[in-house]
Amino acid sequence: AKAAGKNRFLRFHPDMMAALVQRTDMESGLQFALQGGEITVDFQPIVSHRSGQVVQFEALARWDRGAGRVPPSDFIPLAERTGLIRDIGLEVMSQAMAQLADWLGEDPQRSLAVNVSGVQLQEHDFAAKVLGLAETRGVAARQLVLEVTESVFFHADCDLIRQLSTLRDAGARVALDDFGTGYSSLGRLQDLPVDTVKIDKTFVSMVRTGSERLPILSSMINMAHSLGLTVTAEGIETASQADYLTALDCDALQGYLFSLPEPAARLEKALRRAEEV
Ligand code: C2E
Ligand code: CA
Ligand code: CA
Ligand code: CA
Repeated sequence: AKAAGKNRFLRFHPDMMAALVQRTDMESGLQFALQGGEITVDFQPIVSHRSGQVVQFEALARWDRGAGRVPPSDFIPLAERTGLIRDIGLEVMSQAMAQLADWLGEDPQRSLAVNVSGVQLQEHDFAAKVLGLAETRGVAARQLVLEVTESVFFHADCDLIRQLSTLRDAGARVALDDFGTGYSSLGRLQDLPVDTVKIDKTFVSMVRTGSERLPILSSMINMAHSLGLTVTAEGIETASQADYLTALDCDALQGYLFSLPEPAARLEKALRRAEEV
């Protein structure tokens, strides 16, 4: 056993040590980042293909460390593990509401989407916090969309369902993010308390020329529509993808073709364009 232990130790490569140190460093860094105002929000427009207008913005968390930007795919999972996501999530919501309040106005056609982690939904007062924040910021609940992934429903308990119900009763909507990548079947969709599905970009990227037959895409969209849900396609990078999804009657489109995620100050053009039409 001792030899094996020693062996194990020897196999602990210096690179692993470096990775461990880096992770611990990042963990404490994230805490300070939140207090020090390093967590900011970018917004990506979501466009209605019927009207050609921006109908929604998705808020995406950003962490600008002095040395550079840490991608959300690194710091969000870390924040979820440490529980810090509860504070980060509220901070992102608060900033997003404050920065978009003017654009949202009282227009029921305009909404703000925020990503919500399963960890946040486990808080018994999550819904109350969100609704309180919206009230403070002057944003109507019906202008809020909470994006959750299928995984939050995997161990769904009554508490979580109650949080979502409270929010939906107040007029907020729930979108199922990364739709199609999870474990649940299309058939389970009707049991989930959601209003919208967001088709994951891996499916959108299957559209290359625009002349291929992709029954999986039409099935997803038809199924969602038959259940009375709206459909957003994410990761639209090319005009043929936009045309393809539009032909399948997708309700809204999001992706680099329209805009990268940007700070609110740099979105002025998109905001103004929406105002002019
Ligand atoms: P997501 O919610 O699926 O967000 C969409 C991601 O796709 C964003 O990555 C966005 O920048 C990227 N994207 C948008 N258009 C395109 C496109 O046309 N092509 C491609 N290839 N990508 C596109 P980002 O900002 O790096 O965020 C990654 C993930 O981090 C998000 O995926 C979300 O799961 C998570 N995340 C970001 N902000 C928050 C937050 O405030 N709270 C929580 N819980 N999660 C967040
Ligand atoms: Ca999302
Ligand atoms: Ca997504
Ligand atoms: Ca994703």
